[in-house]
Amino acid sequence: MELQFDSIGRIAHATVVAAEDREESLRCAARMAQALVCQGEGPLPCGACRACRKAEAGIHPDIIRVQRPLDDKGRPKKEIPVDLIRAVASDALVLPNESERKVYLIEDADCMNSSAQNAALKLLEEPPKGVYFLLCVTNPALLLPTVRSRCAEWSCAGERREQDPELRKLAEGFLDLTAAGDRAELLRWCFAREDMDLWTMRAFLDCAADCAAERLTGRAQTRGMSPAGLLRLEELLERCRTMLQVNTGVRHILGLLAVDAIADERGV
Ligand SMILES: [Zn+2]
Repeated sequence: MELQFDSIGRIAHATVVAAEDREESLRCAARMAQALVCQGEGPLPCGACRACRKAEAGIHPDIIRVQRPLDDKGRPKKEIPVDLIRAVASDALVLPNESERKVYLIEDADCMNSSAQNAALKLLEEPPKGVYFLLCVTNPALLLPTVRSRCAEWSCAGERREQDPELRKLAEGFLDLTAAGDRAELLRWCFAREDMDLWTMRAFLDCAADCAAERLTGRAQTRGMSPAGLLRLEELLERCRTMLQVNTGVRHILGLLAVDAIADERGV
């Protein structure tokens, strides 16, 4: 299903558009940009008005794509330099051409170097009237916390991953491990997964929470876990998910799982 918005108010002036796949984040941001310039009625973008058609053809003058500069061989450079963000800042002061709004779609925003990110701070905090910034990223953790705190975050759905049978097996294995109560084994399990990327971790946490919910509601066998243990685990997984949203690394999450996934007998 194509992304639509019931009103423009749903889109923040500065939004981090995160997806596991680069193309997916660009697609998602392009739909947001189209919604912002759309002149149709009802769910946006309407896809039919003149502005929508221009946006789709990539020729709407008020949707500006900001891309990494190219090197001598015509390949995109690794970083978005500060000059480019300064140029955006002064361009953003110019009124839009056709729309009431002007949208900067910043591709690979997680490639902004730290001076570029610092230069973007003021812009993101107080964008000129009618100006929107969509920061496309695959790894939001590369953005400075000061940048992220000024932006809304839009995660493009990664439903495909939750259906992944490998991930499901991993999640079930993790639950069994916590049920067994073997701390040393749990620690080894967590150590072995330190190279997991952000998106796999996110999908894993979702998947493990689903498995816990199934066992708790009797849709799956409990396999040695008590209802109280399952509830605790659900809470822990939720806490990990929230932390992952706010710039916590995968290793930190694994550390938390290693320490907290098995209830401490001395406690409670
Ligand atoms: Zn439209």
